[in-house]
Amino acid sequence: MSRIALLSEQVASQVAAGEVVERPASVVKELVENSIDAGARKIEVLIRRGGISSIRVVDDGSGMDRDDALLCLERHATSKIRTGEDLAAIHTLGFRGEALPSIASVSRFRLATREPGALAGTEVIVNGGKIESVKDSGDAPGTQIEARSLFYNLPARRKFLRTENTESSHVEHQLHLQAIGHPEIGFVFVNDDRVVYQLPPTTHLRERIRDLCGAPLAAELLEVPEFSSGHIRIRGFLGKAGVSRSSRAQQLIFLNGRAVENNTLNFALREGYHTALMKGQHPVTFLFIDMDPAAVDVNVHPAKREVRFRNTAEVRDAIVEATRRTLETDRAEWSSTFRAGPVGEVSGSEILVSGSPVLPIPETPALIPPNEQFALRRDWSAFSSPPATATPLQPASAPAAPEAPAAAEPETLNQKPETGEIPRSSDFKILGVLGKLYVLMENASGLVLVDQHAAHERILFEEMLKRMESQGVPTQRLLLPLTLQVSPRDGDWITRHLDVLNRSGIGLEPFGAGTFKIDSLPTFLRGSEPAQLLREIIDDLRETSAQTSKLRLGEDMIAKTVCRHAVKANDFLREPELVRLIQDLLACDLPYCCPHGRPTMIQMSYSELEKKFGRKV
Ligand code: ADP
Ligand code: MG
Repeated sequence: MSRIALLSEQVASQVAAGEVVERPASVVKELVENSIDAGARKIEVLIRRGGISSIRVVDDGSGMDRDDALLCLERHATSKIRTGEDLAAIHTLGFRGEALPSIASVSRFRLATREPGALAGTEVIVNGGKIESVKDSGDAPGTQIEARSLFYNLPARRKFLRTENTESSHVEHQLHLQAIGHPEIGFVFVNDDRVVYQLPPTTHLRERIRDLCGAPLAAELLEVPEFSSGHIRIRGFLGKAGVSRSSRAQQLIFLNGRAVENNTLNFALREGYHTALMKGQHPVTFLFIDMDPAAVDVNVHPAKREVRFRNTAEVRDAIVEATRRTLETDRAEWSSTFRAGPVGEVSGSEILVSGSPVLPIPETPALIPPNEQFALRRDWSAFSSPPATATPLQPASAPAAPEAPAAAEPETLNQKPETGEIPRSSDFKILGVLGKLYVLMENASGLVLVDQHAAHERILFEEMLKRMESQGVPTQRLLLPLTLQVSPRDGDWITRHLDVLNRSGIGLEPFGAGTFKIDSLPTFLRGSEPAQLLREIIDDLRETSAQTSKLRLGEDMIAKTVCRHAVKANDFLREPELVRLIQDLLACDLPYCCPHGRPTMIQMSYSELEKKFGRKV
């Protein structure tokens, strides 16, 4: 007895709809993409009750003649590809010829379309996949499609829909993607008779972002500088260092004009941001990747959100590089705003303290041991001095020994406590230190708060990376070498990164099975617990290396961890050290955040202060 039967066209479409039409937002996506493919200059989207009750998309695109208006409702009917080879070079958003029949099979569907210049248009009414009527229509040129009562004939699917609010926010997000992806098209969005937005067409992406997301967000973006690598071109806008969100909702990536989701791209962005992004946070991006369509497969999923790259490494490296370059463009702009002092002019690259600095830091040496006063300063000056390899450093477990000779202190410029030595005039003015940690400063815009630890970490980090590339990090021998027992897996990690560890100033060698000997540490890590440090490094390496490429991974990770260790115990700084700290911070490549992505400084502008004090609304 034969059991197999061909499904009717209608059932087949409903099955296909399961993949293409998940919720109102998917209908909006498909219809808007069709309008874009049809060359529309303006697209209106009107929904009712989250799109569950009705979705209407009206465009002024090419329209269709009567034959096409009927044919477009057949499965696998498309004007966008002809042969299998065409799949390798897709320039349109659609190509599967599935969307319209799928939508029409699960809704009450009306299509009205008219070619410009045609005497009349065509109206087709379809209910649950069955054509009810075809007739002339007098609508304007273009196409309008309405899908009402979504899933009315599939109660099981209808049950999966969420509340109207949830569905309407999905629709809004979908439109958001399309509007950002196509600034040259005007978009109108009407939700339950309320006009949510009317976006005029623009040739400038930044304008579209401002119209849609608001000026405050637009002000936090950097334009990607002209970037191309091979056949890959990258453009768009990225959030400045330190700008982040707890979800990926604002991380928009467009590949050849199509909004896509792809882990390679996510990780590449993360890697590009690297130290400019806090743990667990996601960047804000409006990133456009244009590449040879043959090098990417968009036919992975019916909804076409996922893509597969022919050469993943190539794409990843391009994004990492473009992101880095973009973040660096901010440096110049940032430091010029920051340095615009309360009085006078910016003088060259010098950081000057203006007027008479008021430094409410106790000057009584009796309160603070003198060697602690310079603790922080000494840490990073170790880099600008000859390696102090001869200076013994006791293991942390041993009782505190007298302070080692200050071999790492050849510069005396900033060691003199008299404020008379400090050039004074413009830039900014140090007001004092809050809670032993935050440096308070005044600049042209208002108040600036600097987190000393974060600033110090950033300075050390960049200096350390430079050192690792060139002559190496100055080290100090441990008085008593330590041995460290680790699990076989961790031992593996250490062995693999032994070279980088040594270059970072951590003197480490295998010492039997699962055991390593540590006999030196970076000079500035005085007083650190080497075993603890190593454990942190192993943890961090394990966590990140699963996700990122090998691009400087080891170096960056180790330097990050070492620097976090270095600054843990530093607190007290005198004025010359503060000045030096700010100077060194401003000389960094990415001065505005620490290597872990936390901000190093916060600007509180006069207008914010005025708002807080109710002087201004
Ligand atoms: P696909 O977009 O994958 O080709 P669809 O089912 O979405 O498949 O659409 C089928 C065809 O109908 C398209 O190839 C196109 O020729 C035509 N079409 C759909 N929507 C429009 C529109 N808004 N304006 C003009 N033609 C359209
Ligand atoms: Mg389509």
